Amino acid sequence: MKDLVSKLESFIKEAKPSKPKQSNKIHFLKEGQKPPTNKEKPTGILHLTSDWVLLADLNGNYYFPPQIALTQLRPDIVLFSQRLKRVILIELTSPCEENMNTWHMNKLNKYSSLLNVIKQNEWYVDLFAIEVGARGYPSTTLSSCLKKLGFSGYLLKDTINTLGRISMECSFFIWLCRNSKEWSTPVLNTKTSENTSVSPKPKAKNFSGEKDLNTKETKKTPNKTVQLKHAGFINKGNTCYANAILQAMSTFPSFWSRQLAESGTISPLARALSLNLSLLGKRSSPIDPSNFLRALQNLISKKRSIRFNINTQQDAPEILQIIIDNLKEVSVVADDALSSSLHTTTTCEICHSFSSVEIKQDIVQLPLTNSVASSLNNFLSTKYCRENNRYFCSLCNSLQDSVRISSFASCGNIIIFQLIRYVDQNGRTIMDNRKVKIFTDSLTVPVKIDNTVTLKRTFKLKATINYRGTLNLGHYWAFIREEATDSWLKCNDTSVIKVNFNDLSNDSSYILVYSTD
Ligand SMILES: [Zn+2]
Repeated sequence: MKDLVSKLESFIKEAKPSKPKQSNKIHFLKEGQKPPTNKEKPTGILHLTSDWVLLADLNGNYYFPPQIALTQLRPDIVLFSQRLKRVILIELTSPCEENMNTWHMNKLNKYSSLLNVIKQNEWYVDLFAIEVGARGYPSTTLSSCLKKLGFSGYLLKDTINTLGRISMECSFFIWLCRNSKEWSTPVLNTKTSENTSVSPKPKAKNFSGEKDLNTKETKKTPNKTVQLKHAGFINKGNTCYANAILQAMSTFPSFWSRQLAESGTISPLARALSLNLSLLGKRSSPIDPSNFLRALQNLISKKRSIRFNINTQQDAPEILQIIIDNLKEVSVVADDALSSSLHTTTTCEICHSFSSVEIKQDIVQLPLTNSVASSLNNFLSTKYCRENNRYFCSLCNSLQDSVRISSFASCGNIIIFQLIRYVDQNGRTIMDNRKVKIFTDSLTVPVKIDNTVTLKRTFKLKATINYRGTLNLGHYWAFIREEATDSWLKCNDTSVIKVNFNDLSNDSSYILVYSTD
């Protein structure tokens, strides 16, 4: 499409408005225009005026001109002339050759309501749904569209051939990368110089992740601020919690590729999540997470049987838990990777009988202390349950003083902690904004296999989700480790900046994501 756009751009620049030839195109003329007389030059719609403006949906950031119609639809290419009050819509599709007719009709149907609106607004509109087959065969709709626009002779032939070849090469490129599970925007070599020999070369290298782009060698660009190849997410109205969760979840990519490979059926949420995460690290312009938010909204609404308003303040651990639950429904890998089993034994101090429970937990709540390591120690330490916390002993048949010990019976490759920052103070819930030190980025978690064997598993900090505010009003952001450069990024909605490791020790860390890789 890029190529078609650049051909059109240069065509508009070069095409001098000429007198249109007398033909059945007479109905294209506006009142007061010169009557057609000249028949010598090939003329098309684009020759009618010189004020054509071209808009193209190349990076998804154009809006349909509101003076023509208010619409959410975005045709691939829009050409309009304010003077003529005329607009040309071009929709380019590359289906399989055998499906071309179906696609043609689909596209015409898709835009039929828009055409009505445009006509009501007293604009003249042409819609061209053009197809270039995936194997390189350009449909007749392409040549007919180009001819109507005013392309002729060599230019017409060349444009058709080029588009056909590019379509075929793109298909070949996709085929070449059929075994690659990662997606990055391929760099198509579409330099449209005068010599229009455009040849997109498949670079399979780009598909093996973008590590090469992130290495220090490529960041040597002197005197220029290094553009981070890690995008932020647009806040769609109080959706910072979702943005922070997305960033934190992006830190275990191996999990995602496995998740996708393994599951035949994938939930709408998991699909939206993978889609959004696959864009991270591949671009620096902000990502619109609307598809993810919609999927999340649908999921939670269904779960709660009441419409969930995505644009309201949320507790991130609660939302994260819902996402994890959904992933686990789709994938056993998710369950294995994320769940920790906590074994708790309570012993009666009077009769010395004990009871044990083992509970699976995806997000382990740790008491807040001044460091993560001591919070974990505190969590695993022996607790004496006295007074109000006494335990009901079934043997004594009464509440008794008791001793409680918790330990990890197993844990997955990813362990997620939530620091208990909400405290109850005289019946009011307030935030405890103590600073939590993260001395080292690795954390040792003892896993008690049985009474005699305890494994020490080492985890590496991958991400933190931070929160500042009150119970009902506040803001979330995330710190994430960028594996390629082993550096830390602060991801605050659309803003992504490099930070020091020391910045992670702060008074706002709320959720901590650790992983063994
Ligand atoms: Zn007892």
